[in-house]
Amino acid sequence: VLAATGPGVGLIPMVKADAYGLGAVPVVEALASGLGQGELWGVGVATIPEGRALRGAGWGGRILVFTPVPDAEIRLAAESALTLCLSSVDAVRRLSDVAVRGGRELPFHIEVDTGMGRAGLPWHEAGDWAVRVREAARGVRWEGLYTHFHSADEPDLRATDEQWTRFRDTLSRLPSGLREGLLLHVANSAAALRRRGFGCELVRPGIFLYGGAAGPDAIPNPVVSLRSRVVLARDVEPGTVLGYGATYVARRRERWGTLSIGYGDGVPRALATGGGMVVIRGRRVPIIGRISMDLTVVDLTDVPEADAGDVATIIGQEGEEAISLDEVATRCGTISYEILTGLSPRLPREYRGGERASDERGPAEIRSRPELHQS
Ligand SMILES: *Cc1c(COP(=O)(O)O)cnc(C)c1O
Repeated sequence: VLAATGPGVGLIPMVKADAYGLGAVPVVEALASGLGQGELWGVGVATIPEGRALRGAGWGGRILVFTPVPDAEIRLAAESALTLCLSSVDAVRRLSDVAVRGGRELPFHIEVDTGMGRAGLPWHEAGDWAVRVREAARGVRWEGLYTHFHSADEPDLRATDEQWTRFRDTLSRLPSGLREGLLLHVANSAAALRRRGFGCELVRPGIFLYGGAAGPDAIPNPVVSLRSRVVLARDVEPGTVLGYGATYVARRRERWGTLSIGYGDGVPRALATGGGMVVIRGRRVPIIGRISMDLTVVDLTDVPEADAGDVATIIGQEGEEAISLDEVATRCGTISYEILTGLSPRLPREYRGGERASDERGPAEIRSRPELHQS
């Protein structure tokens, strides 16, 4: 991402939703040890409790909170020195009240809605709200201005260009002297890697850091592996029925392997109907029947030597075979973000310590219940 943005641009890696399900604390530790001081400008979360959890874990750097927050939580944000991203003049006033009462100057950023529609002040009314935001900002410091793209991962970047044009229009409507004091950020992973050339001070990558594609031509190295184990392997007679709803029936003598992982761990049921596979002993084998909460069954007939104790790779590389995060997401009819954030707390996260980010094996390894592992 840094290579794409050029020198002098700071990163706000998005670690919301527990760093897309991978664990915000270890991810922030890895970022802090792998990046230089000027490179890691801050980190982004969605909610105040997420920010406070990072503070509690000892992260002293900047934390930006990117969703509109309930009034009642503003005081907590101030207490934990979180930087709020605001979408209304009223919100600036309320933050201001808290700051004045607390006697501490608080920084904030303003979101501009250039087409995403869910938050932010309207881009075409900037001449009006910018003046009012500045007036309302007592005891608080207007530090940044940003927008968010809705389609930067699409093949066609025209919608992104249009949003960028609107953002520049916003800048041109600001009262004179204001822009110079503001840090600008617009790019998510896809925009930073594919559209480039915004010339803003900061970028906000997310999915690409976690091994998800940021569009058809922005494919990262694998970062996450998801593995389970065969806990039972059996030969079954033709006609043997499998799983809830009895949706699968053995057509021949088959060998079935039961994996100690299910939708309760975050493997969506839709993976089975989407033609999902896992890699065992370097070979792809199909998931059969319905995925249940704790167990998933695969057809091992073509890998007869497979047995209980074997590792089953749901996402990741094993031997010559690999299943990418995006393949799994596509088979489930969803996006990599939802697969990652759906990985449940029951899955132990194993981190590869001390390896360089360039190591293709990446930092995170997620395994199903270790007590079921035989070695
Ligand atoms: C999640 C998020 C990002 C990161 O988006 P990716 O597509 O994961 O790179 C950037 N900015 C904001 C405001 C976000 O909410």
